[in-house]
Amino acid sequence: MKLLVLGTGTAIPRIERGSSAYLVTARGATVLVDVGPAVVRRLLEKGYEVDDVDVIVLTHFHVDHTADLSTFFFACNYGRVPRQRPLTIIGGKGLARFYQGLCAVYPWIAPKTYDLTMVRLVNDSRKIPGLTITTVPVNHNPESIAVRLDGKRSVTFSGDTDVSVNLVRLAAGTDTLVAECAFPERKVKGHLNLAALDRIVQRTRPKRVILTHLYPDWDDWPGVLHAPYLLGEDGMEMEV
Ligand SMILES: [Zn+2]
Ligand SMILES: [Zn+2]
Repeated sequence: MKLLVLGTGTAIPRIERGSSAYLVTARGATVLVDVGPAVVRRLLEKGYEVDDVDVIVLTHFHVDHTADLSTFFFACNYGRVPRQRPLTIIGGKGLARFYQGLCAVYPWIAPKTYDLTMVRLVNDSRKIPGLTITTVPVNHNPESIAVRLDGKRSVTFSGDTDVSVNLVRLAAGTDTLVAECAFPERKVKGHLNLAALDRIVQRTRPKRVILTHLYPDWDDWPGVLHAPYLLGEDGMEMEV
């Protein structure tokens, strides 16, 4: 299972950090987690097209996690070749309403040549070829979910969240935890800082923790990270 970090940023536009998004390629399926601004283009830069993605998981509906969903759908209809491959969108509470809202604004995004399945997945699992996808609600927005992908190994994405017992439950024993750590020191409601994340990590014991959703506070943070922590960078690629 391969993890490609497409972006490690936030709502603050930055050259060095695109909006938080990740691509997991497993034998049998390719999963995109979040699709914020410019993620479709970021995929291209990394050698992937929208047609390569089987499943999109939306951790929540904030713009920095969903803005390019319309771009994605539009490219499926009007790209070089109209999409044939089925597409599944997984999200939390209100997913259908969110999609209907997008279609009301952009009627051109409704699928023309392929099957689209919308799955509201909360406290539940869904099997796809090569992977099991499990989500739990987390503390950020009412629809916010963390997501775990289990194949031969496992990777868990916190999504945007504050301290969350559900995340502790979901991430227990995972190989790689991709965790939002918005600020190294500052504690802001709805997000984690290093101290709050560390309490989660102590209880879940992942082999590796990739910090993401990084605000500019990180730029001049004088601290040093030790294993299992790794500061996320756009473009990082690794075997999970
Ligand atoms: Zn965010
Ligand atoms: Zn958010």
